[in-house]
Amino acid sequence: VALSIGHSPQDGGSVSADRKWSEFSFWKANIGRVKDELERLGYKAVVCNRSEVGGITPTYAARACNATGADLAVEFHFNEADTGIGGTETWCWYNSEGGKRAAKLIQAAMCDVLKLPDRGLKFVRYKTDKAYMYFKKTNMPALLLEPSFASSHVTDCDRLEERIEPLCVAIARAIDEFFKG
Ligand SMILES: [Zn+2]
Repeated sequence: VALSIGHSPQDGGSVSADRKWSEFSFWKANIGRVKDELERLGYKAVVCNRSEVGGITPTYAARACNATGADLAVEFHFNEADTGIGGTETWCWYNSEGGKRAAKLIQAAMCDVLKLPDRGLKFVRYKTDKAYMYFKKTNMPALLLEPSFASSHVTDCDRLEERIEPLCVAIARAIDEFFKG
């Protein structure tokens, strides 16, 4: 399983509402919990990042995942909006059956832990959609997690930080369910 930290040390991504984290620094600090639980369940998990293969765009995120040879790629983010909305969503490629199935399992697992509004699956299809090149270029089923609007919503930020341990375990167990299904 490729566990891809969103953004890069160079750009960081959005900043949390409490100003403590960038998307990159938050997941860099926590993604090991997902890896540990996956390995406990018998999987090989590789943490990767686009910057390791020379770029900061979603195309490089796809390259970093492809280089691992994994059977599933998961990219970790948190969300931002200027409309005050909050909640959990998961993005996948519009016509990848595996990607959709994994996204559905992980979305349910994240909602179960975070108990924020369930904004459901979001499908990437057009060039203007989020992380289009990441989904277009990954060789394996891929998804992108947005567990909460931690950048723009205070409740979402607190919830993500408070429940990060059970969240990581739940994501790993959903991945296990995906491979067993
Ligand atoms: Zn992001």
